[in-house]
Amino acid sequence: MSRAILPGATVGVLGSGQLGRMFAIAARRMGYRVHTFSPDEDTPTGQVADREVQASYDDLDAVRAFAGQVDVVTFEFENVAAAAAEAAAAYAPVRPAGAVLHTTQNRLREKSFLSRAGIPVAPYAEVRTLAELEEALARLGTPSILKTAGWGYDGKGQARIDEPKDAPGAWEAVGRQEAVLEAFVDFEREISVVAARGLDGSFGHHGAIENRHERHILDLSVAPAGIAPALEREAVEIARSVLEGLDVVGVLCVEMFVTRAGALLVNELAPRPHNSGHLTFDAALTSQFEQQLRAVCGLPLGAPELLRPAAMANLLGDLWERAGPAGIERAEPDWEAALRIPEVKLHLYGKAQPRAGRKMGHLTALAATPEAARETALTARAALTARHSGRWTANQGGSQ
Ligand code: AMP
Repeated sequence: MSRAILPGATVGVLGSGQLGRMFAIAARRMGYRVHTFSPDEDTPTGQVADREVQASYDDLDAVRAFAGQVDVVTFEFENVAAAAAEAAAAYAPVRPAGAVLHTTQNRLREKSFLSRAGIPVAPYAEVRTLAELEEALARLGTPSILKTAGWGYDGKGQARIDEPKDAPGAWEAVGRQEAVLEAFVDFEREISVVAARGLDGSFGHHGAIENRHERHILDLSVAPAGIAPALEREAVEIARSVLEGLDVVGVLCVEMFVTRAGALLVNELAPRPHNSGHLTFDAALTSQFEQQLRAVCGLPLGAPELLRPAAMANLLGDLWERAGPAGIERAEPDWEAALRIPEVKLHLYGKAQPRAGRKMGHLTALAATPEAARETALTARAALTARHSGRWTANQGGSQ
């Protein structure tokens, strides 16, 4: 008998952001119902889900009640306490399992898993006190980056240390808590591999995607990444070892540095669809979101290959700001200007408040080559605000 959870069933998502939203769109397209759970309301996921439950992740009774009403639980936000995943597991399968969350939500546990699995990471040291930090700095040298061990993402809870005398300031900046000091990697580029693993152990990946960050936040992803085929195969094998080593059922992203010497170092794991994989929504035969659905429901994985080269540009809340005569004011980006380029797809996450640094949406451009896709995505994003500055120049010139 099939162990699959079939269309018509209900999938529960812990978390309610844009990853859950795109997952829910993929799930509803295939005839599933979706419930979402988070402390917020009118959320990106809730807006497209059948049911939005608003409760704290610490409210284990609410988590149990939620899990009792769905056929399988997955998550789109990995900083859900392992206790919540455990509570849910008594009522419905949780995929990936809480143990995967437990490992990946703490940088020290994650790095020791990777090291034990023989997967290369940047030199690092565990730091629990300022004295340990100073000792670690003497060993690893500068520049280096101090990162909190728990609950960090998008560069939050990080401090760069350029000289040993910066140690006390960095220790304060990360909140004097358990942390990891990492040697600064002088990388040539950053890549990620988004991969899926089915209930039967089958494996699928979207190839290497190249990523560019601004202020520690992902800004632009391009696929295929411009790396040699042998290096890409190596990156995919690393991803395979990680998904197998953690016994993942679902989707996991491995972020890596390509060093100037052409070696791969794993930076971070995310046990869920990833921002760099958003371009698969439009450019792959099976998106990372559909793969997550298929994997957690015990269905066969779909073909993950890219149909065309693609690039994704994030749209942060800053795009809603423009300089007015009285300071920064809010202005809607010019959607029509970007959509005039027919190969550009617009994704907005339904967030009411655009704040600086907040991920509000993204644009994906498809083209004949990765370089052309990148240019088109950047041109489309620039078009969103071209009118803003133009208008102010006009105003200041007194034409209105
Ligand atoms: P993370 O939050 O660890 O994913 O870091 C966000 C971004 O900061 C990375 O994608 C890199 O661009 C940069 N970064 C993080 N760790 C390092 C490192 N050890 N060396 C150089 N850059 C880093």
